[in-house]
Amino acid sequence: MHRHEPIDVERVRRHLAERIAPAATTVVLPLEVEVWEPVAASGVVGQAEPVPVAEALAATYQPFDLGASWGPPWGTTWFHLTGTVPEAERTGDLEAVVELGWSDGWPGFQCEGTVYRRDGSIVKGIHPRNTWIPVELDGDGRFEVYLEAASNPVLNSFSATERGDVLTSDAERQYKLWRADVVRVHHEVRELVADVTALEGLAEVLPADSHRRAELRVALDRAMDALDLQDVPGTAAAARERLREVLARPAEGSAHRAVATGHAHIDSAWLWPVRETRRKVARTIANVLRLVDDGEPVVFAFPAAQHSAWLEEDHPDLFARLQAAVASGHVVPVGGMWVESDANLPGGEAMVRQLVEGAAYFERAYGHRCEEVWLPDSFGYSAGLPQLARLAGARWFLTQKISWNQVDDFPHHSFHWEGIDGTRIFTHFPPVDTYNSDLSARELHHAATNFRDKGVAGTSLVPFGYGDGGGGPTREMLAQARRTADLEGSPRVTVAPPRDYFEAAEAEYAEPPVWVGELYLEMHRATYTTQARIKRANRESEHLLREAELWAATAAVRAGHPYPAEELQQLWRTVLLGQFHDILPGSSISWVYRDMLAEHARVQERLRAIVAESQQLLAGDGDQPITFNAGPLARRGVPALGGAVAEQAGAAVQVAETGDGVVLEHDALRVVVDRDGLVTSIWDKEAGREVVPPGQRGNLLQLHQDFPNQYDAWDVDPFYRNSVVDITAADRVETSSDATSATVAVHRTLEGKPVVQTLTLRADAPGLHVGVEVEWAARDRFLKLAFPVDVHTDHARFEVQMGHLTRPTHTNTSWDFYRFEVWAHRWLHVAEPGYGVALANEATYGYDLTRHPREGGGTFHLVRASLLRGPGYPDPRTDHGSHRFGFVLLPGAGVEDAVAAGYATNLPLRQVTGAPVDPLVTLDGGALVEAVKLAHDGSGDVVVRLYEPYGRRSTAQLTASFDLAGAVETDLHERPLGEDTVVAPSAVTGVEGSTVGLRLRPFQVVTLRLAR
Ligand SMILES: [Zn+2]
Repeated sequence: MHRHEPIDVERVRRHLAERIAPAATTVVLPLEVEVWEPVAASGVVGQAEPVPVAEALAATYQPFDLGASWGPPWGTTWFHLTGTVPEAERTGDLEAVVELGWSDGWPGFQCEGTVYRRDGSIVKGIHPRNTWIPVELDGDGRFEVYLEAASNPVLNSFSATERGDVLTSDAERQYKLWRADVVRVHHEVRELVADVTALEGLAEVLPADSHRRAELRVALDRAMDALDLQDVPGTAAAARERLREVLARPAEGSAHRAVATGHAHIDSAWLWPVRETRRKVARTIANVLRLVDDGEPVVFAFPAAQHSAWLEEDHPDLFARLQAAVASGHVVPVGGMWVESDANLPGGEAMVRQLVEGAAYFERAYGHRCEEVWLPDSFGYSAGLPQLARLAGARWFLTQKISWNQVDDFPHHSFHWEGIDGTRIFTHFPPVDTYNSDLSARELHHAATNFRDKGVAGTSLVPFGYGDGGGGPTREMLAQARRTADLEGSPRVTVAPPRDYFEAAEAEYAEPPVWVGELYLEMHRATYTTQARIKRANRESEHLLREAELWAATAAVRAGHPYPAEELQQLWRTVLLGQFHDILPGSSISWVYRDMLAEHARVQERLRAIVAESQQLLAGDGDQPITFNAGPLARRGVPALGGAVAEQAGAAVQVAETGDGVVLEHDALRVVVDRDGLVTSIWDKEAGREVVPPGQRGNLLQLHQDFPNQYDAWDVDPFYRNSVVDITAADRVETSSDATSATVAVHRTLEGKPVVQTLTLRADAPGLHVGVEVEWAARDRFLKLAFPVDVHTDHARFEVQMGHLTRPTHTNTSWDFYRFEVWAHRWLHVAEPGYGVALANEATYGYDLTRHPREGGGTFHLVRASLLRGPGYPDPRTDHGSHRFGFVLLPGAGVEDAVAAGYATNLPLRQVTGAPVDPLVTLDGGALVEAVKLAHDGSGDVVVRLYEPYGRRSTAQLTASFDLAGAVETDLHERPLGEDTVVAPSAVTGVEGSTVGLRLRPFQVVTLRLAR
């Protein structure tokens, strides 16, 4: 038999695209189209912000010609579509089809639409791969819908654009509506499309020499023979008959099992503002509910409680239907988080609240408890997460992103992930390598062949549905799933919830491999630095939330002052939204930062008011200067979590000009600053030791070229280090001093803009205080602040959520080398036995630590903080403007000192006039209090979260200053640990009077609920 496969392949593809698929419908009625284009305040027609549907229903519409253009960037255009179906045609299946003028790109990154009925309820969303609208006729055969069309600009070009904010955008109309018809559906043709798509795709991925592949090619060829191209609807059944046998052939016994879960990754903000996400959620959910109503066997995983909360507020009708779909199992809330947050930068307590707020919402709204953490798209995963996930009740963890590693392939797809404290959680990376699968044969085949754990495990999860900008699963995807449920040559596909996957995976893979430490993403390393203002705002809001909860809870217990639980919850939720994995990392358009920085300012103003009001109430009418310390460690004689008269500052600080520069000195340090404003010596008096390595200078600003190969805001590539300019020229060096401090201020010019670097010794706080003020207007640059430290080691410690992570600083393997930029929370610590140096920061997350040969032998470490970058996309003016950075360099520091400096640098001491205030709780021993609040159930119980921060076993005693009626260890949801939770109680050793005895593992997190 002579066959030339390419001829067969081309035949099937052309038949399918140009004859079969178009024949699935025929036009019954072109619809009348009218338009209403709300005018923006700027005067641009059609660029107004979205309006409530009632306003659109009441508007006056004008005739609209098909083919005419509409839609300036970020505008909303309302179309009114009407028509009366002739009586003879009112039988069988009718649908409407609208073509808004889609761009070639992916759904969610261009125009999209929401279809409303006359009564204001949502029918469905439309996007380029889902253009149909169900036809509901009135008694006279009349069809009428309103289409809210969003003319979102195409921004995923990855090149600089001014369209990232409506304020800088142009007014050019981007789209042309060219089709609005009622059509008749030919179901047999539609089924033939699905048959051919499945089998052609399968043949393509099977081995070229396999019998099955040849058999599929022959069957498809014969099916094409059976078609009359002039009458596809009339001959589709005959063509399908010729495929019946090959479609019925069951899967092999060893076939990979793919648990397919419907999904729509919706970035809470990214290349669109938050207000557009609210509409994306409504469109996507409307489409999922449509699938459910149409009897499709869809199961849809719905993460991000915030998205549901928006839906509840904006569209109560959809929300009620969604609740029913959750009850019937078609929709499954997943992840239990408020948003799919960044998984590196959020602080410990913020990460707790992501898990708590999300889970509590899902439980209230749907009666559903999430059993997994669902973070497919975040840019790396902190080693602090496994413990927090388990304490939040999660049994499993899902991500996908690590498949994006530039160099090193992650060795497993299913494994136990072990965090800093030793907690393990079963984790899965879908080997399909996408969280937006279309269930094509190509993707299913990739999942099966790519799966690293095959041989011992045979099941993976495949999240399917259009995503990033929403969209979700389609009936075409489900048609593919039906065909691959049990098909020779294909993985066996089951549409099911994540739970089905995880239970099957755990059962078949009882002893999975273990990965210890962080899941570092070898990509997107610049997200620790980009958009410095949002990072500072986040850090400040996190700490103000701690202060506000602590003092409000103290005031509630002490003075019966009302605890502002609801307001605190709303403020937390805003901050949690700001930690979404394209907001906090800095990868969104400028509009998102305009919005979010305003939100942080509002949040901080309220929190400051709560703090001030609570402190004044607690301090009462006395006339002493009372200093409040919200930190977990005493400072200047003020107890942790209390208020007292602070001790006077220690010995004086001197500053003196010498021939070579300036000397700053107090009883602990002697710092020499040269004429360039660089630090040539830091003498640690107590240790009798020099901190600056021979021949090196610290406080050095370094400027690199930084033009990554792709993803400007996200990436810094390893070659950035190949060129560097040291910023050494000083315009002037000034000194100043007061009763408690002395400062050297170094004025420089950087790319034409002023920079002021300050070096301060203080009598009332240890270490060398380093400030940098920068006017920044650079593009494609990376600014670092360098401190060489004379420490010989091969590792360093970095604060992460509720503890710290040790990372190697050598570059032995490619895993080590490509971890060339890392993140830390409030401090890092580099030490050799007997001596260490810590660097604490106000709001800087990105660092690199490198080892260098030292004059006189050994090595020293160059510690560099990442300050600013200049990416062009997606925000062309990223970080332009004024910035300030603050650090404390702490010579002779142990980990304890680093931890203390981290808190001190981020929690200001606040002064009020009154009388001393005893702490609500006192914690003695080797643990620190992370949060004090009232229980969220309104019982008035005091909840204290604490953790072991040093990585060692310890004991501690928590003493309440109120009458303690009982103390229990709880999960993060404040439910007693035990039978109902995935973690057993382990920390409380006893309760005596008002004191709770504790025994903690290294880095153990403990939540105590104290009844009054
Ligand atoms: Zn995402």
